[in-house]
Amino acid sequence: MTFFPESIISKLPHTGTSVFAVMTQMAREYNAINLSQGFPDFMISESLIRLVGKYMRKGYNQYAPMPGVMALRERISEKTLGLYGAIYDPDKEITVTAGATQALYTAITAFVRDEDEVIIFEPAYDSYAPAVKLNGGMPIAFRLNPPEYSIDWNEVKRLISSRTRMIIINSPHNPTGSVLAENDLKELDKMTRDSGILILSDEVYEHIIFDGEKHESVCMHPSLRERSLVVSSFGKTFHATGWKMGYCVAPAVLMKEFRKVHQFMVFTVNTPIQHALADYINNPTNYEGLGEFYQQKRDFFLSALATSRFKHIPAAGTYFQLLDYSNISDEDEMVFAQRLVKEHKVAAVPTSSFYAKPVNNNMLRFCFAKSEQTLEEAADILCNI
Ligand code: PMP
Ligand code: GLN
Repeated sequence: MTFFPESIISKLPHTGTSVFAVMTQMAREYNAINLSQGFPDFMISESLIRLVGKYMRKGYNQYAPMPGVMALRERISEKTLGLYGAIYDPDKEITVTAGATQALYTAITAFVRDEDEVIIFEPAYDSYAPAVKLNGGMPIAFRLNPPEYSIDWNEVKRLISSRTRMIIINSPHNPTGSVLAENDLKELDKMTRDSGILILSDEVYEHIIFDGEKHESVCMHPSLRERSLVVSSFGKTFHATGWKMGYCVAPAVLMKEFRKVHQFMVFTVNTPIQHALADYINNPTNYEGLGEFYQQKRDFFLSALATSRFKHIPAAGTYFQLLDYSNISDEDEMVFAQRLVKEHKVAAVPTSSFYAKPVNNNMLRFCFAKSEQTLEEAADILCNI
């Protein structure tokens, strides 16, 4: 029998390779400074490495319980209570996942059915819309505009229909660095109360928030929490994106469905790292200073760019800074980003990649989770463009 590749009907016919992979590959090819994909270029904590080694040597190398190591779920529960005043039962309401990406995919798979509508805010993290589509759902995009990228909830309300199943929010927001305020969540609560609409809240940058602001988690709003799944990532918090470790917290009725999918998607995730993280997050100083740490990097990068022609509004959170190049060029964002790599040896991500339909805001995203030396070298180049 012969296999006919033409017989394959793609489930994602309009999807190419993720822009992060594309830009990182291009940075390698052209030997450029890579400020495109979001990952730190510095070492993680030595004591965290030692803890992983300790648990591996102690023999914690076989499958962990399906929802995650209990000690880690208990520590996550304590952390969520301490930070947001929200009680989640480690037994029934917390699951450890292979990064936030799997948690998002699992949550979407557990609840989105054929022809359900899911409201997402564009620019949107790249995994949301494909995950919705692969589950037969329809992403309904609400477009946010520069420079503030704020949400007009009265406008959002107009997108709600009898088919709306879920709203995905992300604060602090990738790629814009904007954050949602208490009032945003109150509006969201009002809008979805007494409806069957679930909230999927991507809070992977919960600890990376600047200028004395505090992260506003959906966990802090009891009536919103009832219909929300909240996702976080240890990769972001502990500079270990390659470990792909994250978690989801949600009320038991939602978590029950989440776990039905989780068990067949991965069953469980890395055992020794879960034990190590349980010990490590037991000490809040290991994550409390993260906002300050990245604020210094943001400020260092922006002051090094003081003489450049790029315009900016300082990021309020995340480790991304948007730079507006409209004083330099009116080229399409991807064209400008590619030229930046090839001719100037700095890689960034065009924000247009975070929209389904073509857009050009002359805006690129730069990751500042880098050493000062890297940031200085990149800024020197950018100042001469
Ligand atoms: N959501 C957002 C907004 C992100 O920026 C990222 C990754 N940078 C993720 C989810 C995925 O996180 P993880 O690497 O833990 O899967
Ligand atoms: N979240 C990271 C970013 O926004 C990258 C994650 C990935 O490569 N998929 O750059």
